[in-house]
Amino acid sequence: MVTVAPHATEHMQLVVVGHVDHGKSTLLGRLYADTGSLPDGKLEKVQAICRQQGKEFEYAFLFDAFLEEQQQGITIDTARTFFSWQDRQYVVIDAPGHKEFLKNMVSGAARAEAALLVIDAREGVQEQSRKHGHLLSLLGIRQVAVVVNKMDLVAYDRPVFEAIEAEFRAFLEELGVRPERFVPASARHGDNVAAPSARLAWYAGPTVLETLGLFRKQMTQERLALRFPIQDVYKFDARRIIAGRVASGCVRVGDRLVFSPSNKSAHVRSIEAFNVDPLPLEAVGGQSIGITLDEQVFLERGEIGSHEGSPPGVATTLRCNLFWMGKRPLEMGRKYLLRLATREVECEVVEIRRIIDAADLAALRVKSAVGKNEVAELVIRTKAPIAFDLYQDFEVTGRFVLVDQYDVAGGGIIVEAVPDAQTSLREEARRRDLSWVTRDVGTDERAERYGHRAALVLLTGSAALTSRLARELERRLVLDGRHAYLLDTTNIRRGLAEASELNTRESTRRFGELVHLLVDSGMIVVFVAGALRQDEQAAIQALLHPTPLVVVQAGPQAGDPASHADLALNDVEDAAAAVDRIIAELTRQAVLADPTDHSRRLLYPSYSI
Ligand code: GDP
Repeated sequence: MVTVAPHATEHMQLVVVGHVDHGKSTLLGRLYADTGSLPDGKLEKVQAICRQQGKEFEYAFLFDAFLEEQQQGITIDTARTFFSWQDRQYVVIDAPGHKEFLKNMVSGAARAEAALLVIDAREGVQEQSRKHGHLLSLLGIRQVAVVVNKMDLVAYDRPVFEAIEAEFRAFLEELGVRPERFVPASARHGDNVAAPSARLAWYAGPTVLETLGLFRKQMTQERLALRFPIQDVYKFDARRIIAGRVASGCVRVGDRLVFSPSNKSAHVRSIEAFNVDPLPLEAVGGQSIGITLDEQVFLERGEIGSHEGSPPGVATTLRCNLFWMGKRPLEMGRKYLLRLATREVECEVVEIRRIIDAADLAALRVKSAVGKNEVAELVIRTKAPIAFDLYQDFEVTGRFVLVDQYDVAGGGIIVEAVPDAQTSLREEARRRDLSWVTRDVGTDERAERYGHRAALVLLTGSAALTSRLARELERRLVLDGRHAYLLDTTNIRRGLAEASELNTRESTRRFGELVHLLVDSGMIVVFVAGALRQDEQAAIQALLHPTPLVVVQAGPQAGDPASHADLALNDVEDAAAAVDRIIAELTRQAVLADPTDHSRRLLYPSYSI
């Protein structure tokens, strides 16, 4: 019997998977018994019942009885049982069916940090063993060990074990799962489960229990890097309080925080709390707090605060694994709302790489839609850049849900960011923003003073019409007391560079940087873009984010059909009426204050309480 630490100081969530009858319950029964985690008399009681019923005692029965007992009164759909060894408590997440298990894992109801995959030495690698390998890869579980069980049935033969190891290791590596080790064992006889066995003398590695002990604990929430998703920004007397729940890490007064994806940064002036005196100087993962900053930076719900050296990723294209439970199938090209921490952004599926039936893990043919209870590996593109982490690194910011017509219809985990044409520009913008020298006048002070936010209005379409509208728009805005400026291509070219000397990408980049300076001054910049290509539009957006980019299409579409317009003016007869519509669009996008909205809440995302 192994000694048990009465007070476990850490917990590890574990899942045990494998082909039916390969010995999962027996192995768990052994682990519970051999670590002394069973209630007193339990083992003897189950043994007595077996004797009464004339059955041979099985450790699997012990596990089943234990499961039943621990589950009593628990109504959650993920059953958990516990055993302790040394300083750690193992929380065994029961995987009742693949469907429930996948759903629980991607929705956040359960999370396994490590997995044991059991293979029967006599039967070898079976179809289900492979499927379970796949399941672990889908869920991004990185710590996996394989137990080659029932070694007693193959006379503890080393070559049998080695052949299974070679075959299965190669298979798992193809899926990107790197098993930490393969352990030969006999759960029924207790060989190499809690104690090494003379019958497996040729094996020098750790026992099953030692293997569990070697799994590394993911850093605790507090020790991980800071992730502080903004829930709301409140204006409270002169202060602006940024409220949210610290998802991980620790934030202290005086820390310089960077908010993603806008790249705004400032120092924490105070951490606010109700009826607490003195105010706290730090807050850690799990706490709901409000902070004030030393600069009035323009921040909105959904941004994620972090420390400068360890920011989350920012991207628009993400590879993920998703469990779909929606009434209608998930389709490529259709718009969904992606919710990640406190951020909501429109998105669409741009590629479905593979679909797997969650009930039996059978890989289905590649289809263009994902049905209910199917798991898909797919690529999602968000309309605006989003801050995220990989699920394997951070749980809260690595997981998202998809909303279809107001219903949460799918849950997913982020596996990888897919670089797009704008990745390098976005990185450039981030470096620029982080070293940006700020002044004492903040963005929203300017906005308050000017009565509008900065924006870039791009007019695309027919050349003659757009330049007429642009002039009219500039004139109207300036007469209304706005800070607006019509940027003329010919004028820029003279000063900055002859466009002919530069490739399009570089001239787009320079244009974006120039506009960035103007919008930083609080200006509404109007520009006639002629035929705008989608990649140019995306590049400008990457450099200007989070300043609104308002695209107006006038006359027949001249640009890339895929480029997106916020406002399409198809037949313009009267320039003044067309400009009215552009101004209405600017109001709708909260660039201009809505004269009928006296709270001016649209203009400033913060509001008074
Ligand atoms: P599960 O379906 O994977 O949970 O498998 P069980 O734990 O219920 O085991 C299935 C059968 O295999 C039971 O009859 C066990 O007694 C038997 N079994 C489990 N482990 C071993 C083992 O190490 N050696 C032998 N000979 N039989 C085992």
